[in-house]
Amino acid sequence: MSEAEPVSIRGLTKAFGTGAGRVEALRGLDLTVRPGEFVAIMGTSGSGKSTLLHLLAGLDRPTSGSILLGGTDLAVLSEDERALLRRRRLGLIFQSFHLLDTLSAQENVALPLSIAGVKARAARQRAAGALVRVGLANRRRHRPDQLSGGEQQRVAIARAVVIEPLLLLADEPTGNLDSASATHIMDLLRRLVDERRQALLLVTHDAHHAARADRILRLQDGRLIEPNPANPESKWSSLGLDRAALLVPPIAWGASSTVFAQPSGSLPGEKAPPAGEAA
Ligand code: ADP
Ligand code: MG
Repeated sequence: MSEAEPVSIRGLTKAFGTGAGRVEALRGLDLTVRPGEFVAIMGTSGSGKSTLLHLLAGLDRPTSGSILLGGTDLAVLSEDERALLRRRRLGLIFQSFHLLDTLSAQENVALPLSIAGVKARAARQRAAGALVRVGLANRRRHRPDQLSGGEQQRVAIARAVVIEPLLLLADEPTGNLDSASATHIMDLLRRLVDERRQALLLVTHDAHHAARADRILRLQDGRLIEPNPANPESKWSSLGLDRAALLVPPIAWGASSTVFAQPSGSLPGEKAPPAGEAA
């Protein structure tokens, strides 16, 4: 049997409000993200990009249709179970870094492991390893205010990958960075995908960044359009390079307190933590 797809979405719809105020944000999306695949999603403001990411992260529920993450149907999970899945299987990267100011880089990266019950020593070692992977071995003890914006985003990426997530969801991860730092972050994301077979779904308004992906999809009229999938070389020109049309405002995620809220319990069918790691 093939391994479960990181993302399998079928017939996804999401409507907000009722009557005359009803907005159909998503009108029937199908999307599969395979292991090791980097998919970029572009679209104008209001096209439903944030809505899609919220649904994938389990922060909101669809109106109809299904979302399977690693073969787990989000619809069968309680809110707490969805929070656990988010915490243990998804790596979330935002435009703003959401690092804790009073903790060192390494402590920030170790946090999701500590919350998952990994013992302090193992968590420290894994956090240090993740910081090596993002090129910040020599910044382990720095606090966020002692790091540049690009370095802070690399710490946030280390925190996202340290749990070895099924899927990385990146929401305009370069939106707060100068172009040199942004390019560095895109290089890093591309390398993580290539080295770790890490599935990545990136929302961006920057066509140059989207062009780093294996596949570019455009959200339009509540549906996902794949420009000429038969010819990957055309992904770039098919976007038209109309920068005005590509520009969209940053995505407003739910309050980070919701995203990082600490649930308890375990997921249905979840494997026990590796021996020696549980607290
Ligand atoms: P994008 O991220 O692509 O800019 P969004 O996903 O934020 O688009 O929004 C898609 C559409 O759904 C927009 O018309 C927006 O106004 C609407 N929408 C999003 N969230 C809500 C909400 N909580 N209540 C009502 N309408 C919403
Ligand atoms: Mg948005």
